[in-house]
Amino acid sequence: MIAVVVVRAGVLPTGGAEVVAECAGRAVLVGSQVAVAAESLRGVATALTLVEQEAFRPAAIAHLLAPLLIDEPIVVLPASPDGRDLAPRIAFTLHRPLHAGATLVNANHVDMARGGGRELHRLVPGATFVATLQPGTRGVVPDPLLPAPTITSVTGPTSDGDTRDAVVMAVDEADPATIDLGEATRIIAGGGGLDGSDRMRQLADIAAAIGASVGATRVVTDRGWAPHERQIGTTGVVVAPRLYMAFGVAGAVQHTSGLGDPTHIVSVNTDPHCPMMQLADLAIVGDANATIDELERLLT
Ligand SMILES: Cc1cc2nc3c(=O)[nH]c(=O)nc-3n(C[C@H](O)[C@H](O)[C@H](O)COP(=O)(O)OP(=O)(O)OC[C@H]3O[C@@H](n4cnc5c(N)ncnc54)[C@H](O)[C@@H]3O)c2cc1C
Repeated sequence: MIAVVVVRAGVLPTGGAEVVAECAGRAVLVGSQVAVAAESLRGVATALTLVEQEAFRPAAIAHLLAPLLIDEPIVVLPASPDGRDLAPRIAFTLHRPLHAGATLVNANHVDMARGGGRELHRLVPGATFVATLQPGTRGVVPDPLLPAPTITSVTGPTSDGDTRDAVVMAVDEADPATIDLGEATRIIAGGGGLDGSDRMRQLADIAAAIGASVGATRVVTDRGWAPHERQIGTTGVVVAPRLYMAFGVAGAVQHTSGLGDPTHIVSVNTDPHCPMMQLADLAIVGDANATIDELERLLT
């Protein structure tokens, strides 16, 4: 197995280190300032091939990488935005199936969450395939004793010659309202303690005022008050915010296991003894709905 990770300005995407770990440290890093990104994989990577490419043009990059990947039976990319763009191009170029959004990948089986996270599909893959791995599902534990990886640098034609390729017109600042929740640094989440769907709209307004993204528990997504991609937890998205604010969230293990390790947790709940309040740095015993009204008045 080998990982392919798109790097932008020396930064690995969410889930980048994880796919490298999943592939026993073997990876191709492609993009801008790949050598900087390679440094951040100390303790995880064992053998890296670096392909410096200023422009991200997925079809051209897939062609460029094909000779490097043709003898690799399993190619794994993170299901990050760039990974999701590049993976189908690589699969097409190598004439292989793509197993997208996997939670586990190996030569014997591929697990994939389907049906809004309610079903786990296990398939027995063919001998060669491409997969994307959902960030946060496998984890990564760096080994401080691992020797520095071997590094091979590959130069190739710049990836801007193919007129049929996607063209990046501009790269906008990430908008917390729409970015992948897995990449959000601040998250405001609503839970079963909310008394109506409009509370999620209020949370979105409050989130916009402080540059945060909106998350939810499964109780809220099951009620249809938020889309499934906003659900945090084992059958939702795994997140890694620095600030997590929970309104009416009990803190069930299926929810908190997807929370990462936030630096600050604020919880508003009527039950001072629920798990979310035990985890919180700031635990406010009170009505989440009234608190949301007041925050909306103060911030929007
Ligand atoms: C296989 C499986 C997978 C699951 N996957 C996920 C998952 O990915 N993500 C997920 O979130 N859950 C998941 N769940 C569900 C999980 O077990 C919990 O049921 C769910 O997280 C609870 O959501 P909640 O805290 O919003 O709601 P509740 O359990 O209903 O808790 C509501 C909380 O709000 C508080 N409250 C009530 N009224 C107020 C008020 N007026 N003001 C303030 N606080 C109030 C209550 O004290 C309580 O703590 C899964 C369950 C299973 C079995």
